[in-house]
Amino acid sequence: MNGIKHIGVLTSGGDAPGMNAAIRAVTRSALDRKVRVTGIRRGYWGLLDGDFLTLNSRSVGGIINHGGTMLRTVRCPEFKEKENRKQAYTNIKKLGLDGLVVIGGNGSAAAAHTISKEMKLAVAAVPVSIDNDVYGSDDTIGFDSSVNTAVQAIDKIRDTATSHERMFVVEVMGRHNGFIALETAMSSGAEAVLVPEIKYDIKKIIKNLIAGHKRGKKSSIIVMAEGAGDCNQIAELIKEQTGLRVRLSVLGYIQRGGNPTAHSRVLAARLGNFAVRNIVGTNRAHLAGIQKSSLVAVPLKLVSSRKKRIDHQLYKLVYQMAQ
Ligand code: ADP
Repeated sequence: MNGIKHIGVLTSGGDAPGMNAAIRAVTRSALDRKVRVTGIRRGYWGLLDGDFLTLNSRSVGGIINHGGTMLRTVRCPEFKEKENRKQAYTNIKKLGLDGLVVIGGNGSAAAAHTISKEMKLAVAAVPVSIDNDVYGSDDTIGFDSSVNTAVQAIDKIRDTATSHERMFVVEVMGRHNGFIALETAMSSGAEAVLVPEIKYDIKKIIKNLIAGHKRGKKSSIIVMAEGAGDCNQIAELIKEQTGLRVRLSVLGYIQRGGNPTAHSRVLAARLGNFAVRNIVGTNRAHLAGIQKSSLVAVPLKLVSSRKKRIDHQLYKLVYQMAQ
């Protein structure tokens, strides 16, 4: 493949704070290298139906602080069919793209991997997900923002819980993973955390909550990942077995939107820029990731075939700190 002259950029999968900052970083990093940039609207759907717009430096001005994505995002199951992808490849050729940057989560990176196998195109994935579940990168753009939103909400809930001497079960997002739950529980001083990856003994947890109450704890917060079971049942069980007042709060979609934190913005700048530098420099299909504070180009094959693990030490620490 010769020098990269024209790249496309799209956002796909679930939105997360920092997607806009990543679009800005990719666009300006490419323009800085005299590479043209075309934005593709509505994720992979936009590749199928040719929903394109030219991006210049001004088109990505004033978006660094905005949640959501100016390119919008939709789930596009049609893209999983090879027959449909042929239309996308025709559109890519017609447009004259020689590179593509995909900003999104696991599914989006899997699709980027498929494209890189099926056509001659320099492909890069930039990991954006509130769930932090992308293999190959210790951190994803949007994760810190989401955790901060959840922590701010729990700080408020804690005020009520303490004033009224109540227990609260708080359900946070994370799909099948406990990354958000763990960091949120640690940062909000939760008394317990339930995650899908680790089998928990609810009887033992309830025993500890009762013991904490007897020691004089005025409130208890149980942070529960959405994939860790039925939060209604858990709250009911705790109520029954402790005889205390227990309330349930499901944080829901507030964790997906809002302004990105400074951390998410800086990560978006670094990974967006790294993705462009890599495809312009090597043309190699990769995920622009971060590991132990260093930028790393991770082969997309690894990203789509492996599962990222949560930190078991952090899980233990939550309980240790809840004495
Ligand atoms: P996320 O990127 O946030 O994990 P999804 O899992 O919904 O979100 O994936 C985003 C999009 O990527 C899907 O709607 C689909 O268009 C595309 N996609 C996901 N997995 C594949 C796959 N195995 N092959 C082709 N396209 C895929």
